[in-house]
Amino acid sequence: MKAISVLGSTGSIGTQTLAIVEEFPERFRVVALTAGRNLDLLIDQIRRHAPELVALADEDVLPELRSRLEALDPSQRPARQPELVGGSEGLCAAAAWPSADLVVTGIVGCAGLLPTLSAIKAGKDLALANKETLIAAGPVVLPALKASGSRLLPADSEHSALFQCLQGTPWADSARLSTGVPTPGLRRIQLTASGGAFRDWPAADLAKATVADATSHPNWSMGRKITVDSATLMNKGLEVIEAHYLFGLGYDSIEIVIHPQSIIHSMVELADSSVLAQLGWPDMRLPILYCLSWPERFETPWRRLDLTEVGQLTFRAPDQQKYPCMGLAYASGRAGGTMPAVLNAANEQAVALFLEERISFLDIPRLIERVCDRHRSDLRSDPSLEDVLAVDTWARQALCEAAGPSGRVELLVG
Ligand code: NAD
Ligand code: MG
Repeated sequence: MKAISVLGSTGSIGTQTLAIVEEFPERFRVVALTAGRNLDLLIDQIRRHAPELVALADEDVLPELRSRLEALDPSQRPARQPELVGGSEGLCAAAAWPSADLVVTGIVGCAGLLPTLSAIKAGKDLALANKETLIAAGPVVLPALKASGSRLLPADSEHSALFQCLQGTPWADSARLSTGVPTPGLRRIQLTASGGAFRDWPAADLAKATVADATSHPNWSMGRKITVDSATLMNKGLEVIEAHYLFGLGYDSIEIVIHPQSIIHSMVELADSSVLAQLGWPDMRLPILYCLSWPERFETPWRRLDLTEVGQLTFRAPDQQKYPCMGLAYASGRAGGTMPAVLNAANEQAVALFLEERISFLDIPRLIERVCDRHRSDLRSDPSLEDVLAVDTWARQALCEAAGPSGRVELLVG
């Protein structure tokens, strides 16, 4: 029985994780939950899973949660009343909760950084969905992993595919994950991308792309931020940096290929030129379950892949002109140090402004590029946690300034 702490339990990753726990009640139990403001869903989750601890990102909402739990009809009450905590300290407590064996990081954005580090310091294994944390703070997270012995198991579907493909190679030793040491025998990584919401749009039409257009993904149902990242292909760019930190390959050896069917979830090329791929329907439950069950495989009744039903698997090179975010991500990754943290924070702020209809879709890459350019002279090559947090705040501010009057909104602080 594995005890799990779920950070961001009310989101897309969080709810799918809890659905898996309910499907395998004899293998998993939930000991801690964290959430933002969706109290209706959180209370339902508390009733179903009876966690020991619940943390709310916003401390001010704690009294409402407490009184709503106390007001529940006795027949509706959870088997135990959880301890309730709030704020950043509360999230970190849930991440380091003593009885948890594994922490699922389903918080969106750099807000996941301190809880992730808290879990690592406590020696917990992590199912990493919250890629922004590794991208922004790779130079801080990797040494912390080494010091604590925590294992970072990738929940992102592409990185799970790579992880699965590498089982059975000389590398098949999870201790190598995220050590920054190149994986022996691994020559190249190919990350597949669905192409996002605009893959069939002519580039000229992107200027009039609306929020509704950008938030309807053709293959995956996910949170709003990552869905916009998929439409700009920034998500794939971020995944290139994520793959660099997880598998230790240089940026010249990590490629993106557009694969509209999302059946192949990514590929590895080994030293002898053999290419291994992992296939499945696009369903995030699979990579999440693999993090939870690893190194075992559990029997599931989930829809089985039938390639005759798929018919065709097609591939094409990504269009760099149409999607400048990919190039920005490669350049940030190559610059290293604090630059990926700047890229990530600028992107989070730009996406937030776009979702509030304060900037246009094409403003997203334009503004991020300006912020990254401004940071070049201040780049720290071997940043501390404080450096990462400082550039994160600076980049959000710089993006709002670059956006002009429309960007003058409350700062999103990671
Ligand atoms: P989501 O928006 O659906 O859920 C985010 C969760 O984080 C919610 O529970 C929310 O309450 C919480 N949250 C939001 N802001 C917070 C803050 N400032 N502090 C604390 N908690 C906060 O997002 P999602 O789609 O589940 O994505 C979560 C993470 O997983 C992201 O990093 C994303 O890139 C990654 N990911 C998601 C998918 C997917 O299929 N959804 C796939 C791969 C990777
Ligand atoms: Mg992905």
